[in-house]
Amino acid sequence: MSLKYETVLLKISGEALKGDSEIYDEAALEGVGKQIVSLAKEGLRIGIVVGGGNIWRGKMGQAMKMPQIDADYMGMLATMMNALALETTISRLGYTKVVVYSALETRNISDPYSYREARAKLSAGYIVIFAAGTGYSYFTTDTGAAIRAIEIGADALMMAKNGVAGVYDSDPKLNPNAKIYKKLTHKDITDRDLRVMDLTAATLARDGKLKIEVFDMQGPNNIVKVMHNELPSTIIE
Ligand code: UDP
Repeated sequence: MSLKYETVLLKISGEALKGDSEIYDEAALEGVGKQIVSLAKEGLRIGIVVGGGNIWRGKMGQAMKMPQIDADYMGMLATMMNALALETTISRLGYTKVVVYSALETRNISDPYSYREARAKLSAGYIVIFAAGTGYSYFTTDTGAAIRAIEIGADALMMAKNGVAGVYDSDPKLNPNAKIYKKLTHKDITDRDLRVMDLTAATLARDGKLKIEVFDMQGPNNIVKVMHNELPSTIIE
């Protein structure tokens, strides 16, 4: 089956790279990398935003009585590490057209972010990884993902979840009879505060008329499958 979209922004959490290991699981990194490479080879223009939860969470800063701003910058640096881990995995797999743009200045290891550059690289077949979220404290990588998706002109923001197939009417981990929604509107998400992403990200997606697709990335080739319409998901538009 052919690809469902031409351009996507894939948001993966830091946890997805962790597996059962402390920070990185080689097999998890390689599994994600292989799928991204195979999609790029098929011609999908693919931007990636990766979280940082496998290394650092804002809550850890609270426990250490750290000002939130500092804890947040540490979180952004954690996403930078994940971006580099993904970049090296992808090029090690033989796909060398991969670039990291950072919202924070880290010129020795990444290019400074420019949406024009990012679009040009995507058109030239590059896999583009966006690091450091928005570059501002008090935001999340989900918000960074919504902004980048709009800026690269993505057909959809693909929200990869770990073990949850989409948006449900109640928590499927607590309620075995929870019902999955196939389609929702942006208004459903913001008005009912459905936990797909934080409210800032959801509001931005609504205002930018950005289509969101929520799917479970845990499963053999699930990222590839969802891009070919072969996986259950929730679509928000
Ligand atoms: N963060 C931030 N600004 C951003 C993006 C991220 O301050 O634009 C910080 C924030 O502290 C967050 C951490 O980076 O807790 C890691 O990002 P996130 O929690 O979104 O990662 P995930 O849970 O998706 O792995």
